[in-house]
Order: sequence, then C-alpha cells, then structure tokens
Amino acid sequence: MSALTPVEGNLSRRRVIRLFALQGTVGLVSMILLTIFNLDQPARVVEVLGTANTVALIVTFFLVSCTLQFLKFELTDLVFVSFGISAFVAMYPILGGVISCWTSVAAAMITRYLGIRQIGPIKADLSDPQVEYLKVYGLFGTYGLPIALASVLYEMFGGEYPTLSATKENVIRLLVGGLAVILANNVVLSRTMKAYGYEVQERVRLLMYDSSIYLLTLPYAICVTLAYGEMGIAAVLSLCFTGIIGNFAARNLAAARTAVQRQVQRLASLSNIGKTISLEFTTDELLQTIYTECRKVVDASIFSIALYDERSNELSFELDIRDGVMLPKERIPLGQGLNSWVLMHHQPLLIGSVHDEKKLGIVSVDDGLQSESWLGVPMIARDRVVGVLSIQSYRKNAFKEDDLMLLTAVANQAAVALENANLYRDLEGLTYALEQRVHERTKELNEANLRLMAADRSKSQFLANMSHELRTPLNSIIGFSSVLLDTARDLLPGRMYKFLENIQTAGNHLLEVINDILDLSKIEAGKMELLPDRFDVRETVAAVVRVMRGLASDDRVRITTEVSEDVPLVVLDEGRLKQILFNLLSNAVKFSPEGGPVTIRVTRLEKEESPIFVDTVRIEVSDQGIGIGEEELRRIFDEFYQTEAGRRAPKGGTGLGLSLTRNFVELHHGTIEVTSEIGHGSTFTMYLPINYHEAAAQHAATGVSLPARLREQRPPTVH
Ligand code: ADP
Repeated sequence: MSALTPVEGNLSRRRVIRLFALQGTVGLVSMILLTIFNLDQPARVVEVLGTANTVALIVTFFLVSCTLQFLKFELTDLVFVSFGISAFVAMYPILGGVISCWTSVAAAMITRYLGIRQIGPIKADLSDPQVEYLKVYGLFGTYGLPIALASVLYEMFGGEYPTLSATKENVIRLLVGGLAVILANNVVLSRTMKAYGYEVQERVRLLMYDSSIYLLTLPYAICVTLAYGEMGIAAVLSLCFTGIIGNFAARNLAAARTAVQRQVQRLASLSNIGKTISLEFTTDELLQTIYTECRKVVDASIFSIALYDERSNELSFELDIRDGVMLPKERIPLGQGLNSWVLMHHQPLLIGSVHDEKKLGIVSVDDGLQSESWLGVPMIARDRVVGVLSIQSYRKNAFKEDDLMLLTAVANQAAVALENANLYRDLEGLTYALEQRVHERTKELNEANLRLMAADRSKSQFLANMSHELRTPLNSIIGFSSVLLDTARDLLPGRMYKFLENIQTAGNHLLEVINDILDLSKIEAGKMELLPDRFDVRETVAAVVRVMRGLASDDRVRITTEVSEDVPLVVLDEGRLKQILFNLLSNAVKFSPEGGPVTIRVTRLEKEESPIFVDTVRIEVSDQGIGIGEEELRRIFDEFYQTEAGRRAPKGGTGLGLSLTRNFVELHHGTIEVTSEIGHGSTFTMYLPINYHEAAAQHAATGVSLPARLREQRPPTVH
C-alpha cells in the first residue's frame, strides 16, 4: 500500500528520512541474518524442485510480483492498493524464506524505481526525490522483514520448504504465515504513517482497509502455493494469470469510478467558481477560491496565476503556491518563460516532461523546481488575454487533455471574475467621486440659496422701508396740492391750475404704486395680516361700483351687478376684498370698449362643489373687452407682468394689480382663475371662503396653512 502524501515541513521530512533509513536497515539486517542462518535452504529447495523448476518459479513469481505492483490502483483518495503482497505470501512456502524475501524486495524495488524514473503505469511524486529514493531502501523493511518473519514462523510451526502437499495442517500454517506478513507489513506502515503526521484514527482506518483487502486475497495466495505441489507449474501460472486479470479488472473498475468522481468534483468546482464570481470578492479572495477549487480536481501542488500589466508590460504573479506554501507576489518582464509564451500566443501550453520542453524550444524561467509537467492556459475576458493560469507537477505527463479543458474553463471564469471585480472597483470609485461631487454641489447650492434668501429679505425690507419713506413726503405733496386746488382756482392762471391738477393725479398714481409695492413686500415677508370681519358682500360690491362710477374717466362703461339671494354675510377682510374688486373692475373698465358692459356676479357655492372645499362665495368679474392671448394668460398673475396691450393702455399700469389680487385671495385661502378670448373679453373668477376662520382652521388641520404656490415662493425663514 502507498497511501502517503508528500512530506510537508522540515521537521516531518527529517522524521520520515530517519524512519525509512531505520526500517530499510532493520529489514536488510533481518534478511541477511535469515540468509546466514539458512544458507542451506536455497540448495535444499533446488534439490527438491530441480534447478529448472526453481528458476521458472523464481522468474514467474518475480514477474507476477512486478505486474501486480504495477497494477496498483486508487481505492479512495488516500488508499492505493496492489496485490503484490499476495504473490509474496504465495511464494515463500515453495521457494523458502531466503529466496522469497530477496525476490519480493527486488520486485518491489524495481517497480518503485521505475515509478521514480516515471516509467510504467505507476509514477512517484518527485517533489522530494531524496525521500523517494529512501523509500525504495525502506522496502527492505516494508516487505523483506515481514516475509522473513513469516517464513521463520512457518518453519517454527512445522512448515517445510518447499511445501508440496495440500494438507489441512499446511493450510493452517500458511494462514498463520500470511497473517504474520499482513500484520508485520501493517506495523511497519503504521510507523511510516505516524512519521507523516497521520492521526491515530486515520491510521487505523487506512490499515483496516489495507488488511481487509489482503485478508480477502489470502485464500488465493494459499491456493497458488498449494497448486504447485498438486498440479505443477501450469497451475501456478494459470492462477497467477487469473490473479492478474482479477487485479486488472478491479483496477479498471476503480479507475472508472475515480474518473466519474473526478468529473463530478470538477463540475462542482466549476460551479463553485461560477458562484464565487457572482459574489463580491476582492481580487485576492477570488484567486484564493480559484486555487482552492482547482486543487480539488487537479494536481495543483505548484499553482500560479499571473496577470498581465499593460502599463509596465510585465507579468505579475498574483498567486504563486508551491507545495502548499504561498510565495510573495513577484513580477517578471513579458517575454521570458512559458507563461509569457501562453500570454503572447493566446494559446494553452501542455508540456509532459522537461525533455519535451527542450524539444519545443521554449526557454522557461528557472524557478528552482524539478517539475516535469507544465500546463498553462490563457485567461481570456472579452477577447482580451488578462493573464495566465498554470499548474505544474513533478510527475511526467501528469496532465491530460481533459485537465487542459477544465483549466481553460476555470481560467476563463477567473478572467471574467477579475474583470468584473475591476469594473466593480472602478464603478465604486466613480460612484464615490460622483457622490462627492453631488455633496459639494449641494453644499454650494445651499450656500447660494441662503445668500439668495438673505438678499430677498434685504430687498423686501428695502422696498418696505423705501415705500414708507416715500409715502410721507408724497402725502404732503398730494395734501398740499389738493388744498391748492381747492383754494387757488381763482388765483392761478388756467394753465398753471392744470399743472396743479397733473401734480395731484401723478401724486395719487404714485401713491397707489407705492402702496401696491408695500403690500407686495409685506406679503413676501410674511407680514401681511388680514383683518377678517362680518359684512355683507352686496354692500361692498355696491360701494366699489359706486367709486368706479364716480371716477369721471371710468364712467364710460356700464357696470352691472348680480348678487344671488342666498349669498350670506361673509367673514373676510373687507378692505382687501375692496382692493381686489377695485383692481379687477378697473382692469375690466380699462380694457373694455366705450359703453362695453362689465358684470360682477356673486353666487354662493356649497363646499362640495367648491374647489376650496369650504362654503364659498364666488365672485366673477367679466368684460367684453380686448381679451388676453393664451400665451400671456399664463403669466398674467406674475409680478410686474403686463401684456402688450396693457403696456400701451392710455392709463398705463404697473403689472402689480393682479399679482396682489391673487395674493390677497390666497391669503384668504381662496383661489382665482381667469378665462379669456382675444376680442371677446375676459372673466376673472375667484372663490373665497364665506368664513375666513373656518377655512384657516381647515387648512391648519390638513397641515396646509397657505396655498402651495405661496409657500413655495416664500423663503422658509420668514414663515
Ligand atoms: P396693470 O397695472 O398693468 O393693470 P395688472 O396686474 O392689473 O397690472 O394686469 C396685468 C396685465 O393684465 C395688464 O397689463 C393687462 O395687460 C392684463 N389685463 C388685466 N385685466 C385685463 C382685462 N380685463 N382684459 C384684458 N387684459 C387684462
């Protein structure tokens, strides 16, 4: 049996070397002693069997031993079996212990030596050739010692050389001898396993496997021995042949089973690598996973992944593992060695031995390793070779075509995974940069916003202050000009008096503008407060209409009023309502033709039919004047906005009236809308709550204290 993996670490290596040396020596000494004490034994055997038969039997047993040793096969991951020992057990009762132990050890040594030379079906691991050679010497102990021991025992129990009769006693003696061989072999092996660092449990498990197989073949070995005496060499030959065939069949079955297991393992590894790819791993973790998975399915005791660095034109060995030891990362310029060849040719490279490598003419980089086989495949992602994945073995021809295919699949998956990892890293970087940028921009915008708000507050404050300052002297101008107008009609020449009238008209107009600006800045600053009171809309409307009619120039149109009977008393700011009506009416009059009708219609709406969801009074002011175009209609409520016609109107204007109107309506939690058609007139419709307090309470309950538009416009700090 050979169930041992290469030696790792110096300590265990020294222990193993010592043990093999000791075992070999003990075995050799025991064989020499056996020979010395039984010098006449071979002569006796020849005498009984005859020279020709003896030679024929020695050759037969030697060849069968070699063949059975060669037919060693893998039973489990750790256990390798050969029936060689069956041939040894069968041999010694016929040829005697002396000839048998030397023949057995010679057969075992020759097959092992051929394995080291990588000849024949059994190949030795060459990672530590010194240990391998010592193992050959150790065979004196593994097989020589047990056979010498068994032959002595056999003789002690009355066994004869050569054994030629198939008696019951002989069978029992042969059984005892066979058991002695198996036991002694196991004792020796167990010490070797211990030196290799195997746990007791594992040792027992392996020895159980080993012993049970030898026990199963023990009857066969006894049959071979007894066949000679009863039926001659032909029987031995045919039984040996049968044994070889049986061994061969078992070997093939085991090989087939191993191959299937290997395929399954390979598929599992590939799928594991696939899974790894879909997870977020760092490059190192990813490479490590690829190595771990590869190790399960190929001889990856020497494993490397070299990535190509385009900038420096170098191969960077990101992962380099030799006999389980990870080497530090290293770089080599592209051009040298097998990895470079694979990268530059975009092709896999499979080398069976150093000899083949020389024949190929590719110069490899000396890495101090005595590896024979080399397999490297390009790692291709998106048609680009990003690196090389390679494995090496100390055995000749260790890798086959299916290893190449597997490694190619792994390498391509690895390449994609690395590419993805790189992309992910880049993306992370970009996202981070973008986040930073957004953060900075937001900060800048916030600062700008604060500055704007401060500027806006200053502007409103300035307007309020300025309007207030202007109003005081203006009131004096208007007041004194009106006194003069009353008193100086007869004193002043007609032209001068006209000037005085112009001063008063202009002063009044200016006062209106200033008042409007003041109101607007108050609203914007959130300082406009309503003074709601109970009153009758009918009277308010009538009062406004009266004033309008009273103004000489506005007497040119016909103003009609229609108030529904069900309109109740309202609770609103009457002053502001008058201001609203005055604005709307003066616009209607201003833009109506001579005599054109202007109508004020007041109706009541239940809350269900009202757009402001409270009991409502709807006031419509309509005219049949010039109308407003669709484009202009959208901006009609903007501050300082005037339509083309508005700018050309003889009485002028400021573009503040409608803006103020809407603000007043909305302060009442109402709303205003307009419909108009060029040449056919306009209708301004406003919806005001019948009771301001009710609307305010409802808005407070729903969390909306002012119409949305007003809240958006107003800087939050002013609120
Ligand atoms: P203004 O002081 O210019 O009248 P307003 O804000 O009251 O300012 O009106 C803005 C503009 O809307 C006016 O310049 C005018 O062009 C237009 N407008 C307002 N009411 C009417 C109307 N009834 N018919 C036609 N155009 C109107």
